[in-house]
Amino acid sequence: MEQKMDCIFCHIVSGKIPGDIVYQDEEVIAFRDINPQSPVHLLIIPREHFTSLADITDKETCLIGHMVGVANQLAIDESISGDGYRLVINCGKQGGQLVPHLHMHLMGGRQLSGQLG
Ligand code: AMP
Repeated sequence: MEQKMDCIFCHIVSGKIPGDIVYQDEEVIAFRDINPQSPVHLLIIPREHFTSLADITDKETCLIGHMVGVANQLAIDESISGDGYRLVINCGKQGGQLVPHLHMHLMGGRQLSGQLG
């Protein structure tokens, strides 16, 4: 599974730097965002390094579906499923992506704004 030496999220996957990991399986891990923007703010990431959503091809569409399934289950585990939550994938510079390893934000636990940009 491809990893990148200088990628902070690859280091969390390998255990080289700590993460507050709440879920892991063969394909993905999920951990708490270090700078949470809502009471529940988790990041779901593939173990394999993909720089962004733009790197995803037809081969990996199952992976994205799996990430959504994991996020939905974590929303249940974190007791935010009933009131609602938001899944976000920022892609590239103008998409607001700061960490260049594909990740999905799961946010909830408060009323989120209706604005997206
Ligand atoms: P994005 O703007 O979509 O690239 O979001 C990157 C997210 O990663 C931000 O919400 C950061 O707070 C979060 N983040 C950066 N470094 C870490 C880390 N070491 N552990 C957990 N979350 C992190």
